[in-house]
Amino acid sequence: MLRAWIAAAAVLMSASGAHAAERPRVAITVDDLPYAHGSPEPVTRTDAARATEINRVLLKAFKAHHAPAVGFVNQQTAERIGAPAGAHVLKAWTAPGFDLGNHLYAHDDTNALTTEQIEQQIMQGEPMIRDALARAGRKPRFLRFPFNHTGDTAAKHDAVAAFMATRGYRLAPCTIEAEDFAFNRPYELALKRRDQETAARIRKAYVDFTAAEIDWYAKLDSQVLGREAPHVMLLHASVLNRDAVSEVLALFEQRGFRFIALDEALKDSAYATPETVTKFGPMWGYRWARALGVKVRGQDEPERPAWVGQYAGG
Ligand SMILES: [Zn+2]
Repeated sequence: MLRAWIAAAAVLMSASGAHAAERPRVAITVDDLPYAHGSPEPVTRTDAARATEINRVLLKAFKAHHAPAVGFVNQQTAERIGAPAGAHVLKAWTAPGFDLGNHLYAHDDTNALTTEQIEQQIMQGEPMIRDALARAGRKPRFLRFPFNHTGDTAAKHDAVAAFMATRGYRLAPCTIEAEDFAFNRPYELALKRRDQETAARIRKAYVDFTAAEIDWYAKLDSQVLGREAPHVMLLHASVLNRDAVSEVLALFEQRGFRFIALDEALKDSAYATPETVTKFGPMWGYRWARALGVKVRGQDEPERPAWVGQYAGG
């Protein structure tokens, strides 16, 4: 009996071991720190408490779900929420060991900037993350462009890529997103109107759409690469994610994903695929498809429900 049990346990262990090796993996990234605003107006000092709360809740969820995460900072936003809140939010990330990356100083579209202006934005976007990371004995390593616009011409792309490398940056790609910014604007509006019922509906629609997009991008990337590579999820530091982050992380857990650090994900050879030059900001699965000459059906990607945008008049 004991021997049978040991044999059964051994089979179970080896099965779970094999299963663990095949588990899909995802690195979590959060853009527009310290606060991805739901309206076009600039962030001000009056947003300091809200920004602090958003980041506190996000970090609590990442700890609870054992998800290493990288936050990408617009230093201009950190300056606009003022001292000391701006710097405090960034230190709240680095003190417990979370990473920060450069998302350029302002959130300008690099397609409209010259190479020199982009380089200026990178340098101007660095001091506060450098300071927050230095306190944890680290340096800035990752950079993500606003709108994932990595350079709309080959000349600009290559010049900026070379500049980034000299400053010790690696480009942070992302493979899954669910247009959280498009749900966040109506969500903030519903909360402002004290329309709790609509807010709850928007939140549910966002989580459902995220589930559909996780499945879509997992399938897309597997088709393009012929295997499962680690994913990188793109979220924003928004009120919506303050209220939905645990549900979003649970979606990955329900699908058997393991959370990993961004640098671990980027070790996969998929991320060494030569970059395609584009003026758009698609997820990396679409870029890989173009680079590798694989035909994909982008028109089949799930669409976010129209009523969500209509609520905010857009
Ligand atoms: Zn952004």
